[in-house]
Amino acid sequence: MTNTLLLPTAPALRLARGVYVHIPFCLVHCPYCDFNAHAGMDDVKGPYVEALLKEIRAAADGAPVDTMFFGGGTPTELSPGELGRILRVLRESFEVAPDAEVAIEANPESTTRATFDGLLAAGFTRVSLGVQSLAPHVLKWLGRAHTPERARAALADAEAAGFDHVNADLIFGTPGESLEDWRASLEGVLATGVDHVSTYALQVEERTPLASWVARGLRQAPDDDDQADRYELAAGLLPAAGLERYEISNWAKPGAWSRHNLCYWTGGDYLGFGAGAHGHRHGRRSWNVSSPRTYVARSPAVEEGWEELPAAERAAEAAIVGLRLAGGLDRARFAEVWGMDPVVRWEGELREAAGLGLIRITEQAVALTERGFFLWGHVARSLLS
Ligand code: SF4
Repeated sequence: MTNTLLLPTAPALRLARGVYVHIPFCLVHCPYCDFNAHAGMDDVKGPYVEALLKEIRAAADGAPVDTMFFGGGTPTELSPGELGRILRVLRESFEVAPDAEVAIEANPESTTRATFDGLLAAGFTRVSLGVQSLAPHVLKWLGRAHTPERARAALADAEAAGFDHVNADLIFGTPGESLEDWRASLEGVLATGVDHVSTYALQVEERTPLASWVARGLRQAPDDDDQADRYELAAGLLPAAGLERYEISNWAKPGAWSRHNLCYWTGGDYLGFGAGAHGHRHGRRSWNVSSPRTYVARSPAVEEGWEELPAAERAAEAAIVGLRLAGGLDRARFAEVWGMDPVVRWEGELREAAGLGLIRITEQAVALTERGFFLWGHVARSLLS
């Protein structure tokens, strides 16, 4: 049995409430990216901040908030002053816990030491830097706007500023990346002192420039076996440096888990603000209009749609997402929340996955094995079918 993680108690998790703020601007649009991210929209930035403030004020209900996360896009395409202003209005609008995690994504090309000092002064406690690789040819292949030197300097600046936690996002399995390139990227970010690393396999997402290049034979697709080798390397190297895997793609020193992401992975409620942002409250999922210009024109009436999933579907999603955690699904807790033991509900599927060596089933939990961590998608698809 893998280690059962010391999750916060179930009642605390059920009450956790997050806030997500989407900043859709980027310096360049990376060809592999399918996020709601836009380059060349400098004229929209100012009006977008005003529109965000309108949407937040319209939703103000003074309810408790435990975590806040500014994602993108590249949130640091806005100034620390603008980001701090949004944070102040959030604090006026909700009862933000004194020890709330306040996280922000940043990219090396849009940060300096002064950026990080400004973010810290504004109240951000955690920074997640989009490093992706420290190999110049890999960054070039990915179409990123920064160099390895800039990424290293940004990590050092973020560390020196004094945030509670600094994360480095890395992508593995880019064609042309050798195992040694990947090792050097992992070792390079660890050398800066980060206490959290996220590792993602490069995917060819539909309707991206990369997908069209791959379809036309202009670019090679990533290789599954290469990606498995690189995941295995990370799984050995990061724990050896004191960062334990607590979720398929996330590794942290003790106490450095992303509390905001835990809110998603454990079925917590969250409010979403900004273009294309999603929210989830008591089983109701809603999403905003995705175009930044439409968002600005329509704020605060920006909700584009919503759905209420049947309980059975929500339970399947909770099982799939919960399995991503290293401790897996706590059977008793799952039964308490969803009224069913996952091993009874998906007996055939889970026994088959166990037979393939992808999961372990005990009296207490269902958890991925080492092999299962890389093949989680296979288990997930079987639970949905
Ligand atoms: S910087 Fe990030 S969000 Fe922006 S285009 Fe590139 S991958 Fe997408």
